[in-house]
Amino acid sequence: MSERTNLPLVFDEPRGRKKPPQHLADLDPAERKARLEELGLPGFRAKQLSTHYFGRLVDDPAEMTDLPAGQRDELVAGLLPELMTPLRTLEADRGTTRKTLWKLFDGALVESVLMRYPDRATMCVSSQAGCGMACPFCATGQGGLQRNMSTAEIVEQVVAGARSLARGEVPGGPGRVSNVVFMGMGEPLANYKAVIGAVRRLTDPTPDGLGMSARGVTVSTVGLVPRMLQLAEEGIPVTLALSLHAPDDELRNELVPINTRFSVAETVDAAWNYAKVTKRRVSIEYAMMRGINDHAWRADLLGDVLRERGDWGWVHVNLIPLNPTPGSKWTASDPADEREFVRRLEAKGIPTTVRDTRGREIDGACGQLAASE
Ligand code: SAH
Repeated sequence: MSERTNLPLVFDEPRGRKKPPQHLADLDPAERKARLEELGLPGFRAKQLSTHYFGRLVDDPAEMTDLPAGQRDELVAGLLPELMTPLRTLEADRGTTRKTLWKLFDGALVESVLMRYPDRATMCVSSQAGCGMACPFCATGQGGLQRNMSTAEIVEQVVAGARSLARGEVPGGPGRVSNVVFMGMGEPLANYKAVIGAVRRLTDPTPDGLGMSARGVTVSTVGLVPRMLQLAEEGIPVTLALSLHAPDDELRNELVPINTRFSVAETVDAAWNYAKVTKRRVSIEYAMMRGINDHAWRADLLGDVLRERGDWGWVHVNLIPLNPTPGSKWTASDPADEREFVRRLEAKGIPTTVRDTRGREIDGACGQLAASE
């Protein structure tokens, strides 16, 4: 295991940068206590601060009346520093889709999207400012990687969404975040440690964390095979989504350049391993691009590639209508081709869904807002 997972990873960020402010969401409960003591403050206050942050979703120090007034500012500065400021919020779907553009402490821009449905509310979060994976159809991929986000910067996007739901700011009455998908900017498995930390904070019971179910969390990856193998061993049953987009190496090398390092076969094997170890059904993401990857023969090949690893329901396919990025040569598939693609996958026994396209008009997908700033 360690031999495979300790490969030098070309996508790690440069060293020696100024780090984001340290926040209680970066730390586990014992570390929070230690941090306060290091600052000469009483350690037991860490639990109260955690309750404000994760339990009550309070961000205004004036509401933290159980903290002594004379120490409140110091406590808040120590464990709840400001991590990001909202620059813009765009709404669609009558206010049930809300996309926020955030400015981080160093000026880096990231975005998150809240999507509320009748039965659930999903936060789509960023894990990196920019992305180093360079997929040519993805807006974020065009700008390169600026930096990894910290655990707290990732978590704060979810907490901000939870606050607006709790405060009834989203149509449908007060609510909670039920799902988190790592499908905003960045490649989550290229920022592995911070992402695992964020998953732990999301799933730790309140007030240590947000108390979400791991099943409600989806980590989406281009297919960093060593990290996929490592994730399977973490003991946190998150849902894994693999952005495959092509069933053959020739095309996938172009659409998802990391494929030149990890082939389709190795990548699908790692997804299959994840399903086998965690008993969680893996999701294969496939952005449908007209005349590029939407041929009937590719549907058959995709069906075979998945089917030959097992027919015990380990996988399903999620087709994503391509959201064309400005100036790109690719467009979404013809609906008839999309239907035929679904039919052929289902004929091979692969459950297939077509993703609904919330927030199209606010560039809900794929880094377009941040890219336009
Ligand atoms: N880096 C991760 C997660 C971020 S992208 C990954 O690649 O999985 C989330 C999903 O959106 C991925 O499946 C990605 O391929 C897809 N995507 C990116 N650009 C898109 C576009 N223009 N239209 C449709 N889907 C896109």
